[in-house]
Amino acid sequence: MRVRSFVTAALLCAVLTVPAYAEEPGPRVPVLLYHAFSEDRVPRERDPYDLHVTVEALDKQIRGMLDSGYTFISFDELYAWRTEGRALPEKPAILTCDDGYENCWRLAFPVFQKYDVKATIFVIGEQVGKEGYFTWEQARRMERSGLVTIATHGQRHVDHAKMSPSKAAREIGAAHAELVEQLGNPDRLKVMAYPYGKCTADTRSAVAKQGFAVQVLTRCGRAYNAGKTPLTEVNRIKCWNGLSGEELVRAAR
Ligand SMILES: [Zn+2]
Repeated sequence: MRVRSFVTAALLCAVLTVPAYAEEPGPRVPVLLYHAFSEDRVPRERDPYDLHVTVEALDKQIRGMLDSGYTFISFDELYAWRTEGRALPEKPAILTCDDGYENCWRLAFPVFQKYDVKATIFVIGEQVGKEGYFTWEQARRMERSGLVTIATHGQRHVDHAKMSPSKAAREIGAAHAELVEQLGNPDRLKVMAYPYGKCTADTRSAVAKQGFAVQVLTRCGRAYNAGKTPLTEVNRIKCWNGLSGEELVRAAR
């Protein structure tokens, strides 16, 4: 896989202000952030941003979470809790993968199936099917498993904070429309993740007006506080290869 892919996928944990939001009781939901997967450890010089997690490490991290009582849910379930008061499992967690790399389909998806774990994969519209990325057909097959939700990561892997909010919203809306055309289910919940986590309050507001009720950031930290933080500002926990299952469970609290 080309180094450029990882440079463009560099993680930037943006510090953003949290707008006023009525705090109410809600679960803390660790939202795990993955990018690429590998069979063997990828040397640091070929992966400067530490974006590859081996199948073995992914397996241990998922098993650690499951052994601690976590249940992996979809954003649909979190949204139904927020909007309809539907019940959530006692310890909900969400697993996300950004960019839609081919190794996500080839290496991570079998692990999701092994443990019957739900995951959301954010794809870059113009990259789907290109070298190093999975195809729409592979995306369809993952969705058909009932475990994976494919959602948009924008049409291009660019900084949406540098565009006008309306242009960013139009691009993300178009990327979602193409995804629906390819994968069906036009009533699917509009969930998106910003490339590099880059957005402004105005971007989020414009994107929300396009119907994106769930917006996922690269703001890294602890578990997403669903009772306090809006669904348009979902923060995540970065998972890297050296993280043990126990360490992840501690970080997820
Ligand atoms: Zn990305």
